[in-house]
Amino acid sequence: GRMVAGCEVLEVLGRGGMGVVYRARQPGLNREVALKMILAGADGSPWASARFRTEAEAVARLQHPNIVQVFQVAEHDGLPCLLLEYAAGGTLAQKLDGIPWAVRRAAETAEVLARAMDYAHARGVVHRDLKPSNVLLAADGTPKVADFGLAKLVQGGESLTRTGDVLGTASYMAPEQAGGPGKVGPTADVYALGVILYEMLTGRPPFRAESTHQTLRQVIAVEPVSPGRLRPGLSRDLETICLKCLEKRPAKRYASAGHLGDDLRRFLDG
Ligand code: ADP
Ligand code: MG
Ligand code: MG
Repeated sequence: GRMVAGCEVLEVLGRGGMGVVYRARQPGLNREVALKMILAGADGSPWASARFRTEAEAVARLQHPNIVQVFQVAEHDGLPCLLLEYAAGGTLAQKLDGIPWAVRRAAETAEVLARAMDYAHARGVVHRDLKPSNVLLAADGTPKVADFGLAKLVQGGESLTRTGDVLGTASYMAPEQAGGPGKVGPTADVYALGVILYEMLTGRPPFRAESTHQTLRQVIAVEPVSPGRLRPGLSRDLETICLKCLEKRPAKRYASAGHLGDDLRRFLDG
């Protein structure tokens, strides 16, 4: 395969809003990596490059077993690219194909993700685009949060978000994101964790309409159907945990992803 940033490009792993991700090999280290590149011509705007830098700087702060590690930022044909830890097990989106999971597996996965986000928040990084296609799985199934391209660096430096931009994917967007300008903090990630838990428990996110616009309207104004109505027999405790993440008002959600993780652990041990 062709060489990019010192890596041999092997195959396409995925495409997102900004570019393409390849499986690649670093010959010197004899290891596989994921190579994330901006597609030239598709969106090589300074805005995309700025987001790319944000992504690099955000993940560079983070070293956690459940967060995809960034190895290096490189350049190819004048465009930035990221060398990332390779997650061989695909994405959570692929595992969430409309089929509800075993309750324990759902709660355990949610706890792991909550701990990882709590770690990121403690280091000043809010993800803001948490969703199943951005949760990768290692070869052994370990979940790894990826794609910090919309992350906000809370301490030091300007936020790159221009107010009014609708970023992220509607079904996983917190109401304060869906409504445009508004304070988006760590509890927006708590909301997204609630959507992911809901989807693991019921097979579908709480809000998913015909159009993005309709979905956003529901996210802002419609109360979710209790997960227990879609999954009879579901523990009331777990239902309560899930709905607390999905509160419309950020102040009514868990104050931190850590508190969510603690409640999930209590449920699992209870
Ligand atoms: P975008 O910002 O364009 O959404 P992502 O970082 O989410 O890009 O990557 C797009 C897709 O590429 C992911 O959904 C996943 O399928 C794949 N991918 C990304 N990073 C990795 C990785 N480190 N290991 C394996 N696959 C990856
Ligand atoms: Mg993505
Ligand atoms: Mg992205």
